[in-house]
Amino acid sequence: MSRRRPPIVLKFGGASLADPSRVLLEVREARSGGRPVVVVASAREGVTDLLSKAVERPRSDTIHAAVLAEVRQRHPGLSPVGRRHVRRLARLLLDLEQSPVRDAAMRDRILSQGERIAVDWLVERLRAASVPAVGVEADHLGLITDNTYGASCILFDRSSPAVRRGLGRLLARGQVPVVTGYFGRSLEGRVATLGRGGSDYAAAGLGAILGAERVELVKRHVAVLSADPKEVPAARAIPELSYEEAEELAQFGARVLHPLTIEPARAHGIVLQVRSLDDPRVVTTIGPSRSDRHNRALTLLRPLRLIRLRVPGGRQRPGIVAEVSQRLALAKVNLVQLYTSSALLCLVLAPGEVLAALRALAPLTQEAAAMVEGPFRVALVTAIGDGVLADVDRVPAAVVRSAEGFSATPRALSIAVPEERGVEVLRALHRVLVEERSET
Ligand code: ASP
Ligand code: MG
Repeated sequence: MSRRRPPIVLKFGGASLADPSRVLLEVREARSGGRPVVVVASAREGVTDLLSKAVERPRSDTIHAAVLAEVRQRHPGLSPVGRRHVRRLARLLLDLEQSPVRDAAMRDRILSQGERIAVDWLVERLRAASVPAVGVEADHLGLITDNTYGASCILFDRSSPAVRRGLGRLLARGQVPVVTGYFGRSLEGRVATLGRGGSDYAAAGLGAILGAERVELVKRHVAVLSADPKEVPAARAIPELSYEEAEELAQFGARVLHPLTIEPARAHGIVLQVRSLDDPRVVTTIGPSRSDRHNRALTLLRPLRLIRLRVPGGRQRPGIVAEVSQRLALAKVNLVQLYTSSALLCLVLAPGEVLAALRALAPLTQEAAAMVEGPFRVALVTAIGDGVLADVDRVPAAVVRSAEGFSATPRALSIAVPEERGVEVLRALHRVLVEERSET
């Protein structure tokens, strides 16, 4: 495949599959001039949710029957292969009813049927329009992941040879592989999903392995905006982001991208494009950073809780920060943010983790005479952009005064505020960092 032109990877999210004629246009356009194209598809909108519901009610044959009926109804015109995937789903659900142990790999196996069925459905539509599409299941192809079911990571060294060979062969014949997103095959040989929204990550991973010219993530409604338009009506599209900015954005809760999507693209220098079918003018290109860009994006994470830990003589106790982090890590508590001064540590975490955190920290009240305050209800407002640290002086005084904690790096500036002030602070920061900046 190496002497051929590098392919374009086109990934369609569940909602963007709603209108197969649009998908067809996109595929035709990408193939014009004989360019090789790989399509990655996620399950149709709502199908992964339906399948999770079925797994959560392992004994309920009525729910399973309803889910199956719905899946069938949403995928008319399947080929024999697609119908086999549906029957397989029916059998897996039956197995679940009979022995309702829900191990994580079993769950992933069931969830993966959504993509398999969607791929067949899409392939049939593309073929009907004379596109030489061929369905490919990523686990059979050899997209290898670790064994963390439900949130697995792609293992690139292990995956590359088989993926290049398998897709290269199809591309060399002028065919259009349509690959399932969302999952691969674990080291143990079982199906492992990449976490919700994982088709973006799968597409970026395949693009990296193939040395793609670019990977286009086609969404139906969403685009990468300067903030969530439901919270900030003045939000606007962001034309360009660096890999690092996009990564921060995904980590700080912009739901438009799976957080692991950026890394493979960055590591292999593959350009990512996020597009919205609803508004073709809205395209965000994610690539290497450039010093002449000053894009800012804002995110709001909530509900969160803040716990204050006062450690008298904190600086005299070397390693206290490490000790706190270690205790939390052992209790599997994920810190969203940590602010420290010498005798005060402020921990920001999800509400569901508060009890475990308090339990993990309890011994410190004895050993270090620490005092715990909270939990307090907070929201985390984060401004992201290369060089954002220089914007600190634009943050309104009223916002600073209401802050429960503040952290800043050259790329992300994040402020914990009382939960009820979250939206107001988000809008205030959007005004000074996005709206007023572009007016000047
Ligand atoms: N179908 C999966 C999900 O809904 C993967 C994806 O959409 O990217 O999470
Ligand atoms: Mg989906």
